[in-house]
Amino acid sequence: MSLPSLNFYPGPSKVYDQVKDYLALAFEEGILGIQHRSEKFVEISKNTVALLKKKLNIPQDYYVFFTSSATECWEIITQSLVKQLSFHVYNGAFGQKWLEYARKLQPNSTGIAFDLNAEINVNELNIPAQTDVICITQNETSNGTQIKENNILNLLNRFPDPLIAVDATSSMAGINLKYIKADIWYASVQKCFGLPAGMGIMVCSPRTIIRAKQLNERRHYNSLVPMYEKMLNFQTTHTPNVLNIYLLNKVLEQRPLIKVIDKDLVQRAQQLYDFFQEQVTSNLTLLVENPDVRSHTVLAIKADPKLVEEVKRNATRHNLTLGNGYGAWAKNSFRVANFPAINDEEYEILKEFFLKYYA
Ligand SMILES: *Cc1c(COP(=O)(O)O)cnc(C)c1O
Repeated sequence: MSLPSLNFYPGPSKVYDQVKDYLALAFEEGILGIQHRSEKFVEISKNTVALLKKKLNIPQDYYVFFTSSATECWEIITQSLVKQLSFHVYNGAFGQKWLEYARKLQPNSTGIAFDLNAEINVNELNIPAQTDVICITQNETSNGTQIKENNILNLLNRFPDPLIAVDATSSMAGINLKYIKADIWYASVQKCFGLPAGMGIMVCSPRTIIRAKQLNERRHYNSLVPMYEKMLNFQTTHTPNVLNIYLLNKVLEQRPLIKVIDKDLVQRAQQLYDFFQEQVTSNLTLLVENPDVRSHTVLAIKADPKLVEEVKRNATRHNLTLGNGYGAWAKNSFRVANFPAINDEEYEILKEFFLKYYA
């Protein structure tokens, strides 16, 4: 088989095919050297925020910020919104890492792990009275699980006072998230946005900004209040990733509305889960047994470590890049991204590969 090089890594991941042209366009339009206090930049930034709200269905009264990564958002939240502690509910490596980062800045932060195949048991969840922010990972990229919309709503209903912060790094721009049901949502652009790495997007509810102003923490270049103040005029506290903001703008312009993308992705995820469950060898199984908590954007396939190695090596020989396992699942799983920038035809080639060697 002679195949084009296909990338199914769940981040950094395949960028939209059109990025090639947009990069050339950015160069031709002189975007690469513009001043970040210029009218031109403000226009691009303002336009991009409006497009994000329109295409991703973000409430008009929510605030959008450009950051440098999802990791940076972990720190921004702790620095600027946590007075005493944050409480983390997690089931995988990214959720756990978030708690570790939070503890470095606010040592009283704590949390609870839940099982890979479980939903968060909101009714029996106990959180410390001083909790400022409850932190969840909507899509746990490390193991291919997701937290459903209803669970997030239950959290909000049961704990109306703390802010609810959601790591949506590998689902924002892929899944139709209901932003109204939580306060802080963030992602980085090298996953479902289909863009080169190097930028994060953070979305905040009005009450998040009110809390930030009450604390008025201003010790860092990326403290939330100064970020908010600069963003009133669509600017940033530092020189941002202007190229990526431009690319985001261009990509969003041509993308359908999120509800269309969501519908297609959910359907394709189901087909891929069915495929791995029914058509490949039983030596490869789905890591997540409970269909209700399986991610729509990242699939995790479990196997003996030797077989995992062999599958990845064989895939590489056929110009297919699969995602390595991650965290606790590093050796006995591999991952497959189901991101919007990857075309249906590419998944057909992936399926052919598995049918040929692992049926
Ligand atoms: C990729 C990822 C991150 C880290 O993103 P960076 O851009 O490297 O900061 C955090 N959380 C989740 C769930 C991720 O998938």
